[in-house]
Amino acid sequence: MSIPSPQPAPRVLVIASGNAGKIREFTALLASAGPELGLEVRPQPQGLEVEEDGDSFAANARLKAEAVARITGHWTLADDSGLSVEALGGAPGIHSARYASSDPERIARLLRELAGESNRRAIFTAALAVADPSGRTILEVEGHCQGEILETPSGEGGFGYDPLFLVAETSLSFAQMTPDLKRRVGHRGRALDALLPPLLQLFGGEVA
Ligand code: IMP
Repeated sequence: MSIPSPQPAPRVLVIASGNAGKIREFTALLASAGPELGLEVRPQPQGLEVEEDGDSFAANARLKAEAVARITGHWTLADDSGLSVEALGGAPGIHSARYASSDPERIARLLRELAGESNRRAIFTAALAVADPSGRTILEVEGHCQGEILETPSGEGGFGYDPLFLVAETSLSFAQMTPDLKRRVGHRGRALDALLPPLLQLFGGEVA
């Protein structure tokens, strides 16, 4: 009689975010990467706030990954993302989350600031950082998605500025896309595409 060999315990990867929309997207994105990663994805502990006082998306992603890894003692993936609008000199940029106090207010403020402006070009950026359980950043990548800010919100899906962001190559706003399409053309999916090969290499090696 053969005794089945024990399955290796999945490695925990904490997502350093308190944003339910982002955690949903990352969990789906990592699940679609296949079982090779063998990851148990967890949200960060409730109520945890890391001050994001870096001067770039990449610096903020690093800050969050390192702080949450040190606190939880687990591998941690952090992203810092946001929308940079050309006619607003790159605003809201790294201040995208703090631009107003709720998604509808953020959308209203952006439309106000762009009233009468014909240059609607904008770009979403997602910077990702992975820190090891000791709090050292091991991997860093960025993904981008170019688009335009619509005159009125369109679509019901997604979160944040999604209803205002038109991706020219699809003629759809992020909020009108299926999660799968947003994953393929969106900044976070593109950043994850860049992250997965080195992540697989890292977790496929001797790092436990
Ligand atoms: P942070 O990365 O948690 O600092 O927040 C970035 C902010 O940018 C979010 O709160 C959203 O307002 C916005 N944002 C980032 N990614 C997206 C996206 O995929 N769709 C819409 N808004 C986003």
